[in-house]
Amino acid sequence: MPDKRTILNGNGVGDDVAIGNSFLYTPSLSTPVYKIEESDVEEEYKRFDEAINKSIKEIEELQNHVDNNIKNILYTHILMLQDRVIIRQVKEEVKAKLFNVEHIYDTIISGYLEKLSSINNKMLSERSSDIADIKSRLIRNLIQPNSGDYSQIPENCIIIAKTLTPSDVLKFNSIGVSGFIIESGGYTSHAAILAKSFGITTIFNIVDISSKIKNGRKIIIDCRSNIVIMNPNEKDIANYTILTENIKQFKEQSIIDAKEKALTKDNIEIKVHANIDIPEETENLLKHGIDSIGLYRTEFLYIFSEEDIATTLPSEETQFKVYKNIASKMKGRVVIRTLDIGGDKISPALGLNFKEDNPFLGWRAIRFCLSNRQLFKDQIKALLRASHYGNIEIMIPMISTLEEFIETKKFIEDIKEELRKENQPFNENIKIGALIETPSASVIIDLIIKEADFISIGSNDLVQYMMACDRTNEKLSYLYNPIDISVLRVLKRVIETANNNNKPITLCGEMAGVAMYTPVLLGLGIRELSMSVTSIARIKNLIRSISIEECTKLVNEMLEKCDNNFSKSILNSFIKKIDIKNYKGISE
Ligand code: PEP
Ligand code: MG
Repeated sequence: MPDKRTILNGNGVGDDVAIGNSFLYTPSLSTPVYKIEESDVEEEYKRFDEAINKSIKEIEELQNHVDNNIKNILYTHILMLQDRVIIRQVKEEVKAKLFNVEHIYDTIISGYLEKLSSINNKMLSERSSDIADIKSRLIRNLIQPNSGDYSQIPENCIIIAKTLTPSDVLKFNSIGVSGFIIESGGYTSHAAILAKSFGITTIFNIVDISSKIKNGRKIIIDCRSNIVIMNPNEKDIANYTILTENIKQFKEQSIIDAKEKALTKDNIEIKVHANIDIPEETENLLKHGIDSIGLYRTEFLYIFSEEDIATTLPSEETQFKVYKNIASKMKGRVVIRTLDIGGDKISPALGLNFKEDNPFLGWRAIRFCLSNRQLFKDQIKALLRASHYGNIEIMIPMISTLEEFIETKKFIEDIKEELRKENQPFNENIKIGALIETPSASVIIDLIIKEADFISIGSNDLVQYMMACDRTNEKLSYLYNPIDISVLRVLKRVIETANNNNKPITLCGEMAGVAMYTPVLLGLGIRELSMSVTSIARIKNLIRSISIEECTKLVNEMLEKCDNNFSKSILNSFIKKIDIKNYKGISE
């Protein structure tokens, strides 16, 4: 008997649909275990020695980019990898027990870790996390990063996973999959942001789907209706095949709509820039006639390299080439954000202990960069050098205090001086902006504005920190409300301060690309937005259908009434009345 047709509800990203065969993705968290023959023992020793050497080389390379305190920690990692007692023990056990070397190594090191954890001593428990890091690096080099997990995945399938990391998305994009169905997450998680910019149909918050569907079954994702259809019938398949064709044509029309200026009905131009996550997206921007970038998230250079997980950091030279290449293709501004690692973006290349209790409140972005000056210097130097070839502006993420911003500017000035001495050309007047995404930065916006050449609002984080709710936690999605009255008040304050000081201000969080919020942002005084390229045509069409006057009136009502339910309902009725070209339904 065929499996039953079932509809499940979730939250779609954008408004695409996809039809494909399911592929259940369960990243192997465990090390492979298998028996070997006596004749394989020498080969296992060889693999082990090679993996140790590769791990040491990676760490040595990493040492070139970090400051002395981390260099010393990394040196102890090398010493531990070279530990003769452990090497001997592993080899003896491989020979005696005839199991693969990663299993033997894992068992031995896990045994040590267990002993350490039973001792109540802070120093020893810190040492445990170093040992755990070394263990994962070595095992990764033995089994090669995730090769077992990705190699079986067919093209054009729909991936079903409990959760996805940004590097999973990067990898799947290079394989060419049609969709993602994710059990957890939120539309501002970096996995969802990446999937959206690659145009991969994505729906999340589909409870328990991985235990409900088998591999290789037909499945449909419909982000317009926020549903997944498992085991669709013939009629579903026929309908969705037609819809897919219509969407394809709509996208061709979008390319034309994205190219032209966006003027409101009362003739005010709203500049719309693109957000990009990987350099290859630049080609897609050019195809859509978009020649400015409001946010380039550089951290993905540290997470992924040439279709694989990055195991070493990008050098100054590598970064210089990437930034130069992007900037020289764009006519307008190219806002490049300095490394924002941490939170849900982990770089295996850094290999350090990032397992923090509260990663989103942790050692992230500028906090990390200011305490890893060598690594930060490589990036700033590359950016400054590339600024000679295009209109690069530097944006600093996660500013929490004025001092952090001033210190960063001073750091950049010092590197400029170094470049002058080296006779290397760069743009002397390069603009340095602050990304406002913490409540503290928004409270001191009157102070930051005096130091910053431009301001950008990172609403993804600003909402998460204002509301004290993790942006990737679907259980808190009811709290994650970008038009909560508290957020509206903060946005108003930040936008007004920038406008009154004649400093350019852009909003580059995901809310910029959600049609529902466009009237609110325009009403609050925003005149520049930056979003994923896939949202640009739609938002520009919406802008063309509204006036600043009506948006201002709408927002004032919301601010006066101070009632979230009221805000939602007047916004819904406002949106419903708009006649938008080529526009088929707004998803919140
Ligand atoms: C934001 O926080 O809104 C933002 C643009 O940065 P990210 O999503 O990369 O944290
Ligand atoms: Mg952010």
